[in-house]
Amino acid sequence: MTKNSFTPHRHASHTLYRVAVPTEIQRDALLSGLSVLVVEDDRAIGTQLVRGLERIGCRPALVASGQAALDAHSSDIVLLDLGLPDIDGVEVCRQLRERSAVPVIAVTARSPERDRVQALDAGADDYIVKPFGFDELAARMRAVLRRARPGGSTISYGVLDVDVAGRRVRVDGTPVTLTGKEFDILACLALEPGRVVSREEIFDHVWDEHWYGPTKVLDVHIAALRRKLGDQSLIETVYGRGFRLSEPSTP
Ligand code: CA
Repeated sequence: MTKNSFTPHRHASHTLYRVAVPTEIQRDALLSGLSVLVVEDDRAIGTQLVRGLERIGCRPALVASGQAALDAHSSDIVLLDLGLPDIDGVEVCRQLRERSAVPVIAVTARSPERDRVQALDAGADDYIVKPFGFDELAARMRAVLRRARPGGSTISYGVLDVDVAGRRVRVDGTPVTLTGKEFDILACLALEPGRVVSREEIFDHVWDEHWYGPTKVLDVHIAALRRKLGDQSLIETVYGRGFRLSEPSTP
């Protein structure tokens, strides 16, 4: 179990899940600023999900019924509990899908395969089964969003094309071969081109866990990345704050 996980507690005849959310703010480059509709009738789970989402920089809204979900303002992504008190979650998903292409992740305590299949058939983009870790949820949200990103998974910024899903990079149309870490660092910057990404964010994003070793390792990777991209100015150092992709120069 990781530090950010739901742990089951036996309580009367049903199982509750408690989420231990990260104690430090770990903003996520792709998920930060995202509006998330959390549809969950279990107040404890819902509150903890909201807290965890806020910690990674999302803007969550919590509703506790299927009807409230259908009445809610549009959001960037929906986390939909399938076991709701009023309308069946699968039906809620079907109705959400009729009106928008918003990515939906079905959250379910139900394990039978037919329930998961039903959710996918109703238009859910993915599902996650309770109990689950918060890190897994964040990973699934990122994956769903990348698939939903219009124009595929390639981010184009100036001379740079970064294919996030295919893990390929081109500079001025010429493929560049990067190591895994170099690619992850570049993708982290490219997900929000122009924004200054702090060293801490890069460590969280690329190394997953907090990095306790020398932070010089990041500078070494950045130097190699700049060399391979063939243009030292593509990645800008913002002294004391972090790094960002530099504005594409206009010819
Ligand atoms: Ca429920």
